[in-house]
Amino acid sequence: MKYSQHFLFNTETIITYVREKLNIFKNNSKLQAEEIGDGNINYVFRIRDVNSNKTIIIKQADKLLRSSSRPIESKHNYIEANVLRLYGEVVKDYVPKIYYYDPNMLAIIMEDIRDFKNLRLTLLNGKIVSKFADNITSFIVNSTLITTDIVMDSFVKKDNVSKYVNKEMCKITEDLVFAEPFSNYKNRNIVLKDNLTFIEKELYKDTNLIYEVAKLKDSFMNNSQALIHGDLHTGSIFVKGDKIKIIDPEFAFYGPIGYDLGCVVANLFFSLVNAYINNKNVNFINWLERTIAEIIDFFKIKFLRKYQENVLDISFKNVKFMNWYYDNILKDTAGCCGCELIRRVVGDSKVIDITNIGDINKRIIAERILIKCGKTFILERNNLKNGSDYVEILSNIKKEDFSS
Ligand code: ADP
Ligand code: MG
Repeated sequence: MKYSQHFLFNTETIITYVREKLNIFKNNSKLQAEEIGDGNINYVFRIRDVNSNKTIIIKQADKLLRSSSRPIESKHNYIEANVLRLYGEVVKDYVPKIYYYDPNMLAIIMEDIRDFKNLRLTLLNGKIVSKFADNITSFIVNSTLITTDIVMDSFVKKDNVSKYVNKEMCKITEDLVFAEPFSNYKNRNIVLKDNLTFIEKELYKDTNLIYEVAKLKDSFMNNSQALIHGDLHTGSIFVKGDKIKIIDPEFAFYGPIGYDLGCVVANLFFSLVNAYINNKNVNFINWLERTIAEIIDFFKIKFLRKYQENVLDISFKNVKFMNWYYDNILKDTAGCCGCELIRRVVGDSKVIDITNIGDINKRIIAERILIKCGKTFILERNNLKNGSDYVEILSNIKKEDFSS
């Protein structure tokens, strides 16, 4: 009964909890805990056995937002635990192992992937990650396709859609990715003074762009295509050699597959623009460009292969339909990639790839390039068919004169 009512752990109570709940550490072991979280909703504790150096991670959700103390439903935590468990079955090499989930304490006890490094920081350091395109496309294809109507029994699929309804987290995305960056209607956008006029002209006053983004938002809200991760940026991906691990699926829900693919690609664009602006090593830049292109192209090959191998539904066993279905994912990918590019520049949730560009003139240019790319991906989303199209658009926009 002791843990039937949620309270927030601290570095002492978490140790008592771990000893009582799990048989992971020996009774006489000396344990230490530290809180390593950096987010707005969750606390992440690392528990270490001082003698053996064995560690585990406990991620605990709060019932209040860490920033504003606004109450938040806890369903995202239940979803995160369930999705990590599902990934543990279907893409097990790509996630930390889950040892225990406690729905009262909102605590997920899992493997510590401390040998793996944050992909965003790895790329900021100019390090090449072998086989990244191969791994991330395997993860996306293998975790999503089996949850679609192409493969899944239609009753199970509908039950799943309802099980993974993630209202609060989806609302955050609907606002912060698909609405606020294009209208600033909550007055929460944060923009450089020198980019304000540019942003007003290119975003807030572009009625056609706003119309196209509304369509993408509608698709995000209504296309319950597959169970997607929902926040697949480079800070949710960890790497070690040519291995990757994915964490933090608390935004998961049944949505468009292209949202995940577009999010990964957009976040690699932040690394790439950072590399251009800082004149990073040409081998690194070439690898990053190739990786972006390969992600789109490998996705196609793997997705279509898995589709053909697994399709069960009588109507969907149809090559013409399969190509139409794939084509729509590609359009969502380009559109969502564009929105992610823009929201990270204009919205209040920034990425350090851009904010740590110290030279303000360089940062102004980097932001304008990303906004222009984002717009092009959104507006031209029906025409982006190959990975090379993405890299070409950036390379053309980079040549424009943004100095005035
Ligand atoms: P939030 O939902 O608050 O963003 P994350 O799941 O992204 O929380 O975790 C925040 C940080 O905690 C990560 O960036 C990472 O440094 C660390 N972390 C989370 N899970 C693990 C894990 N299983 N192993 C090692 N570190 C982890
Ligand atoms: Mg996170």
